[in-house]
Amino acid sequence: MNMQMESVLPNGFVLEKAQNMMHGTYRGITFLIVPMEAENQYHVQIYAEVEKNPNKDTFLRSFSSIGQKYPFVHHTSYNGSDMVSVYVVSGGQDDKANLMAAIAAAASECEMYEIHNCCAHCKNVVPLHAAAVDNAPLLICDSCFSQMMNRTGSTAARKENPLPGIIGAVLGVLIGSALWIAIAQIGFIAGIAGLAIVFCGMKGYEVLGGKLSKKGIVICIILSCLVILGAEFVSLAIAVYREMNKMYELTFTEALSWMPEVIQRPQTIVIIVKDLVVGYLLTIWASFAKLKSVWHQVGEVPAQHHIVRF
Ligand SMILES: [Zn+2]
Repeated sequence: MNMQMESVLPNGFVLEKAQNMMHGTYRGITFLIVPMEAENQYHVQIYAEVEKNPNKDTFLRSFSSIGQKYPFVHHTSYNGSDMVSVYVVSGGQDDKANLMAAIAAAASECEMYEIHNCCAHCKNVVPLHAAAVDNAPLLICDSCFSQMMNRTGSTAARKENPLPGIIGAVLGVLIGSALWIAIAQIGFIAGIAGLAIVFCGMKGYEVLGGKLSKKGIVICIILSCLVILGAEFVSLAIAVYREMNKMYELTFTEALSWMPEVIQRPQTIVIIVKDLVVGYLLTIWASFAKLKSVWHQVGEVPAQHHIVRF
């Protein structure tokens, strides 16, 4: 059934055709009304500061009694943070009168318990505007509205700085490699650590470079391959150090200085090659899907939210 919004518009309310919603203020309370075609109901919403109100429990109990008082009210609800709702069944020519009765009942409950409208974002009780973000109606204050507008503008304007980005990526992969080395100490090669290296790198690039691009992702992948090689070498040095330390007193630097000789031994080469092959394969396996989605995301223009204030 197609719910006719024009004919049910409560007196003094405004219909926003493009967003398919109604809004208006009754006795100081601003209401948003959204038709729910599938349920054949109107969702009457009040963004309200309920949580900090000392009468919260009594108010909610009293508010829910609206459902018992009026047969056309399907039910009432509270979302647990900032919205009380009345669901009005759509039944034909009485819809307008029913909506107005529900609004009057809800407004007097709010009045009685000193419940006021609040901003859907910051929850502050300040002057508010009805608005729609990506066609979802809400009540919003001036400062949250301008913040939202700035945010959508600023993500689009963010510039990429490759050099700080690369520095960030290097720091990131080094942090990630610590996990690789730690896991290697308990005898595992974990693809998840490879994933951590790649992603710490990309995060580092994004934080210091301002924006992650496809070029940035390629740099991070190359850096990750190199750092995995380095992490494998360090893990091996730690293993040698532990093994040798059982027999001799030696420092980790000494163990490191032996490494060029150690890695030339055939049995070590076998271990290194096996670790690296398994390590790289696991890393590719763990990161492939995620990398693919990030790769596609960075190519796109950042999603623009469509914000309208009424
Ligand atoms: Zn706000």
